[in-house]
Amino acid sequence: MQDINALLEALKFSPENIPLRIHVAGLYIQSENYEEAILHLKEALKQSPSNSEASILLGQCYYLTENYSASIILLENYIDGKYPKALQYYCLSLFKEGDMDLAEKHYKQLIHSYPDFSDDALDDAFRAKNSEDLDQDFVDDTPFVEHCDLSFKDVGGMDGVKKQIDLKILKPLQHPDLYKAYGKKSGGGILMYGPPGCGKTYIAKATAGEMNARFINVSLNEILSQWQGESERILNELFNSARRNTPCVLFIDEIDAIAAKRSDLRNSAGKTLVNQLLSELDGFEKNNEGVLVIGATNVPWHLDAAILRPGRFDRLIFIPPPDSESRESIFKIHLKDKPVGKINYPKLAKHSKNYSGADISACIDGCIEMKLEEAFEKNGTIDIETSDLASAMKKHKPVAVNEWLKTARNYAVYSNESGLYNEILEYINKK
Ligand code: ATP
Repeated sequence: MQDINALLEALKFSPENIPLRIHVAGLYIQSENYEEAILHLKEALKQSPSNSEASILLGQCYYLTENYSASIILLENYIDGKYPKALQYYCLSLFKEGDMDLAEKHYKQLIHSYPDFSDDALDDAFRAKNSEDLDQDFVDDTPFVEHCDLSFKDVGGMDGVKKQIDLKILKPLQHPDLYKAYGKKSGGGILMYGPPGCGKTYIAKATAGEMNARFINVSLNEILSQWQGESERILNELFNSARRNTPCVLFIDEIDAIAAKRSDLRNSAGKTLVNQLLSELDGFEKNNEGVLVIGATNVPWHLDAAILRPGRFDRLIFIPPPDSESRESIFKIHLKDKPVGKINYPKLAKHSKNYSGADISACIDGCIEMKLEEAFEKNGTIDIETSDLASAMKKHKPVAVNEWLKTARNYAVYSNESGLYNEILEYINKK
């Protein structure tokens, strides 16, 4: 063992050197002098209360000195899957306290996330079934994970976008070796941008469905408001959930708000969240096989350039407003299985020129409500006709697709140095 006296001497001169103090505590643990290790870890935590390494080692020491309840309380904060050692001693302490169900549940989580993990006591207790069974048994109870039953056939039109998703997302995942041979990557981060209500979330979900993957949908509000004060932890938990639930699409909506230009963020809380996001994305390439992160924004011009660097959101997909053909398909999809008469779809497409997919869906909802009232009055179903939809459209005020295009055009014309807005320019020119 390294000469601990020399290190203790060094600590006398720099008592605030926390990494050194933790190193000393580790050496004490190796030599089974847990009491001394605990003293140093407590001192480290006094100076740096949120130091995860010191906390986890202290939890380990509590377990090794048979103070199981203290170990459980301390390690509870580190069982999100990121720290296998914390999970290991947490399980061991639960096991000693006789809470077998919870111990087994977290053991399964450990095996699921770290298939090579082994611990004699835990393996003996819980590996009664083989590890494959345990893995199948594993149920991630995170509230965010959805199972997707949407697929591309549920997305009206958008053939160009589907083709891009196929080339940039699906094919690379299906043929990673081929893509690698040509120097192209699979997985990683994709950024979808475009006007509100035009299907970014919807097509991301359908992409997850096409991949037979799980889907985690996070919006700015969930992270910033609802979880105020602990946003970084939640963001990390979401990434870990995605890592535990592969294949998984992690969809981060309104990414501009968490990834706004760091200079725009007045408070340091916002900055730490941006940094957390960047570090999750950087870690992403290293240890996140099977996770696809899709960010979405209506205001790509507010994004921090750091977000778009290679290895982060380095592939962009423009989700444009639906063209006439797409609008026709969106009407058809949303009216499928509803009582309809002979609908003039080209006419509806013509009269919904500046509509987003969300506008079309809202009009159909409005129309159905009207029809329901009528059906109650007349005591039976009555078909939806083109005229019903036309009058619902008259009452509806479409979201600002045109306004968005005007703003986007200004950015595309006047600040397109990086070529970020090429697709928008192409779209506007075509129009
Ligand atoms: P925002 O930027 O406001 O978050 P968004 O671009 O993510 O909007 P979505 O939430 O995906 O838009 O779309 C809203 C709704 O519009 C969807 O739930 C769906 O009902 C409908 N919709 C949009 N595009 C399509 C489409 N191509 N096919 C079928 N439905 C669509």
